[in-house]
Amino acid sequence: MGLNRFVCRTIAELDAQVTACRACPRLVAWREQVAREKRAAFRDENYWGKPVPGFGPDDARLLVVGLAPAAHGGNRTGRMFTGDRSADVLIAAMYDAGLANQPTSLRADDGLELIGTRVTAPVHCAPPDNKPTPGERDNCRHWLVTELDLLTPTVRGIVVLGGFGWQALLPVLGESGWAVPKPRPRFGHGAHVELAPTRPDRDSLHLFGTYHPSQQNTFTGRLTPAMLTAVLVEAATTVGLPDARP
Ligand code: SF4
Repeated sequence: MGLNRFVCRTIAELDAQVTACRACPRLVAWREQVAREKRAAFRDENYWGKPVPGFGPDDARLLVVGLAPAAHGGNRTGRMFTGDRSADVLIAAMYDAGLANQPTSLRADDGLELIGTRVTAPVHCAPPDNKPTPGERDNCRHWLVTELDLLTPTVRGIVVLGGFGWQALLPVLGESGWAVPKPRPRFGHGAHVELAPTRPDRDSLHLFGTYHPSQQNTFTGRLTPAMLTAVLVEAATTVGLPDARP
């Protein structure tokens, strides 16, 4: 996928173009099948069934990066981390960290606003079993490269949710103008690495790792709300978001 194929001058243009993408046949078929068949609890709803763009202000200082939208979460509601259990945990923690105006993320029209922070993913379509193929991940990479480029004037840190997102993000950062150390920094909950810029128009970028707020992690207690909030507060404080709560 050539990087010059799309020209996005603003985050709004990017979001509009992402939403129309059909580059991965397997994911297009899956997201639309899920939207047709629905989960019984949501059978009266109109599923989004399209790529889910990032969500949050276009002058964010902090980016929160997951892996891909959930079939009955973002793929249903049309907004990242909206309408599922992972969203419940993440947005409550973001609220506690001073990064959201409310502690819930239920629907695209629920009034949620993120503060100085944008949430996005290296893969914008819900994949079967939450697992994109390497080819699909590579297809989608240019959208995140463009998003980082557009956020460059302000973005100073990224919180990565989970090891899969971490592995997907590092090559994007290398392509986007930051030096990724060799060997690559290891993912871990509480990991914090500062990446130096390789281009004159970039500032250094702080990378933070946290376990993903999936049900698998939160139900087992591997990730508690306090653990997630602590990483978000550290990231927010590091990038200079003044509202971050201790
Ligand atoms: S995963 Fe990304 S590249 Fe593939 S169809 Fe969705 S938006 Fe397009």
